[in-house]
Amino acid sequence: MQPIGVFGGTFDPIHFGHLRLAEEMAEELGLARVVFIPAGQPPHRGTPHTAAIHRLEMVRRATAGNPLFSVDAREVESPRPSYTVDTLAGLRAELGFEQPLWLLLGADAFLALPTWHEWRRLFDLAHIAVAARPGARLLQSDAMPERLNNEVSQRQRTKGSVSGPAGSVLLQQMTPLDISATAIRDILARHGSARYLLPDAVLDYIHEHQLYTHHEH
Ligand code: ATP
Repeated sequence: MQPIGVFGGTFDPIHFGHLRLAEEMAEELGLARVVFIPAGQPPHRGTPHTAAIHRLEMVRRATAGNPLFSVDAREVESPRPSYTVDTLAGLRAELGFEQPLWLLLGADAFLALPTWHEWRRLFDLAHIAVAARPGARLLQSDAMPERLNNEVSQRQRTKGSVSGPAGSVLLQQMTPLDISATAIRDILARHGSARYLLPDAVLDYIHEHQLYTHHEH
């Protein structure tokens, strides 16, 4: 059964670092599709700068041209803050217990995993693929919190040796793109050019709705 990728994030805004991560993971892991899930009100970080409805629409526009990419609005539409573990459990219930799932994470997100709600349960629900990210030390075990390192040392696999629907960890190189949503927001706040850091369709949407230039959004 071809695995499915699950890619959550604040996407405030979505940029080429996100899109390239999803594209390269899809190719490397042979994913049938990648489901982008914009966070509603992420419990493990501050309130996003931009209304969820705008972040969702930007993800829709950014992914529209790629038949492998789809968007799932469940976290945005939920009245309560969503935990990744609950979102994955929901997907798992819909897709069945045989379906291999890959939770896709950048290295910085992965290193913060032990702060997530019921984080060890994530391994029961999905495999986890971690993309190296410029600025986040990853592949040295001394960069990882000890609790995380213990899990990784038991679960780490190479691409060819992964089996079953969940439970493995794969540390994956990708084209290093030192792009962050924070840097894009800073550029836009000072009316600089963010072109070629994110899709034109997203940038057009940002300008149309005057996002990131005023604090009231
Ligand atoms: P911010 O700067 O607001 O923290 P971000 O650019 O890190 O945002 P998120 O929406 O928080 O974007 O990230 C969603 C996921 O994408 C996370 O797992 C993150 O590690 C990963 N990611 C984001 N940018 C990159 C990048 N340039 N390279 C690799 N992974 C990335």
